[in-house]
Amino acid sequence: MSQSANTASRTYDVVVIGAGAIGENLADRAVQGGLSAVVIESELVGGACSYWACMPSKALLRPGAALEAARTVPGAEGVPERVDVEKTLASRDNFVSNWDDSGQVDWLSTAGIDLIRGTARIVGEREIEVRSGLEQIGLAPDQPEILTVHARSAIAVCTGTAPVLPPIDGLLESHPWTSAEATATQEIPEELLIIGGGVVGCEMATAFADLGSQVHLVVRGDNVLSGIDSFAGEAVADSLQQMGVDVRLNCEVTSCGQVGADPADLIMDDATSPTGIRTKAALSDGSTIVADQVLVATGRKPNLPEISDVSIEKDEHGHLQLDADMRAQGTDWLYVVGDASSRAHTTHEGKYQARMIGDLIVSRANGTAGEGGAGADLRADAMGAPQVIFTRPEVAHVGLTSDAAQEQGIDTRVFDQDLGAIAGAALHAHNYQGQVRFVVDAEKQVLIGVTFVGGDTAEMLHAATIAIIGEVPLARLWHAVPAYPTMSEVWLRFLEAAGL
Ligand SMILES: Cc1cc2nc3c(=O)[nH]c(=O)nc-3n(C[C@H](O)[C@H](O)[C@H](O)COP(=O)(O)OP(=O)(O)OC[C@H]3O[C@@H](n4cnc5c(N)ncnc54)[C@H](O)[C@@H]3O)c2cc1C
Repeated sequence: MSQSANTASRTYDVVVIGAGAIGENLADRAVQGGLSAVVIESELVGGACSYWACMPSKALLRPGAALEAARTVPGAEGVPERVDVEKTLASRDNFVSNWDDSGQVDWLSTAGIDLIRGTARIVGEREIEVRSGLEQIGLAPDQPEILTVHARSAIAVCTGTAPVLPPIDGLLESHPWTSAEATATQEIPEELLIIGGGVVGCEMATAFADLGSQVHLVVRGDNVLSGIDSFAGEAVADSLQQMGVDVRLNCEVTSCGQVGADPADLIMDDATSPTGIRTKAALSDGSTIVADQVLVATGRKPNLPEISDVSIEKDEHGHLQLDADMRAQGTDWLYVVGDASSRAHTTHEGKYQARMIGDLIVSRANGTAGEGGAGADLRADAMGAPQVIFTRPEVAHVGLTSDAAQEQGIDTRVFDQDLGAIAGAALHAHNYQGQVRFVVDAEKQVLIGVTFVGGDTAEMLHAATIAIIGEVPLARLWHAVPAYPTMSEVWLRFLEAAGL
């Protein structure tokens, strides 16, 4: 359907911007529901999770966790001192398919989802323009490439987030890594300065310490992993220190300069760095850190597409205001799902939203969504999304923290259990250290939050998620008998403490 020599147009029921995990899942639900769908992707099909976030970071972290697990089991300690860097990087390369997305492109095709490569911008109601990578629609390469894509039902923005770089003097000149470069690196810096003690900062500190870097972790607050029960952050900070990480709490990087800019620096500059630039960072406590590489892990912001010629409400931060169904307020056709919505920060939560919103778009298109076209039951978002932080110890959390529950005015009872005292934990590792916090709504007698801290607790999280989402009364949980001798017996200790 060519409009002129250098433009073309396509029409689909659903147009998805961004072929990350969330966009792929939403398009899949739409197609399974009988609608036509296209995804528009400017980089690799599969998005951040597949190539620059979850998969590569966990591939870098797993060998160190496996070695430590073996080291703490009597009889199995005779393992190498350090991870094999070359094999770890090769395994990472394998998990990210060497940054080749052909496997995921094939999946789109078998799922009946069309793909357009290029950068999309919203240019009107239900209308998108794509201006690059349009060879596949047969536009002559020497002409401007413009493709207009119309959506009969909905446009779903699934464009993820972009890292936020703090305004630190000289930071950009130091060519800092974000998590994308860190997870994709082929070289291990001798000295790595990480700015930010959140999930990414702590996971990367663990991974690069395992890979042999001297890591300096500079954290603005008085604990790492803010937002999660503080005992979790304390355990992770202690363990990072034991691994040799230089953890600086209550501290900020105030400026960065190149080593060598000051003649006195030349004396100590005998190392090589991945960027070829060594950085001397000044800290708010008056100290300095010299590093071969700086990694900025200070948060992320929605990576929304350009929007023109259509009126859509934004808040003072430039975020789109969304209704309960993740639809931009003032529209009946524009949805924002996954990380771009700021209502999900993990792949699994974003994919949950994608399934829900994909189905909602189908039912609205078919007129089966009920009166007013409502609505998506996104109760997991409201009751608390599960999250695992793959540090050592692992932190696995779902629902409300005790502080958050109290802030919401819920009458709570908090039960702290020593995981190391459980027979299954003692068998799991010598001198196993761990803690579990159960947060109970005292009135309803149901769990509303659980935080596990300890080795291999990630796989224990789903039981807590089921108990919370199912609002299983404690009296009924009493009949869910944990096997002996497993770490799940901590549930029994908790229920006994709760009076059962
Ligand atoms: C280091 C790190 C580790 C993480 N580890 C985990 C983990 O272990 N488990 C977990 O659940 N979560 C983890 N996360 C979070 C997880 O990566 C995200 O929640 C998830 O990737 C979000 O998916 P998305 O589809 O919303 O966005 P993305 O995966 O970012 O996909 C968005 C896509 O949209 C494309 N795009 C953007 N703008 C346009 C445009 N205008 N036109 C066309 N295409 C566009 C982008 O190229 C991208 O491919 C981690 C994040 C980081 C940074």
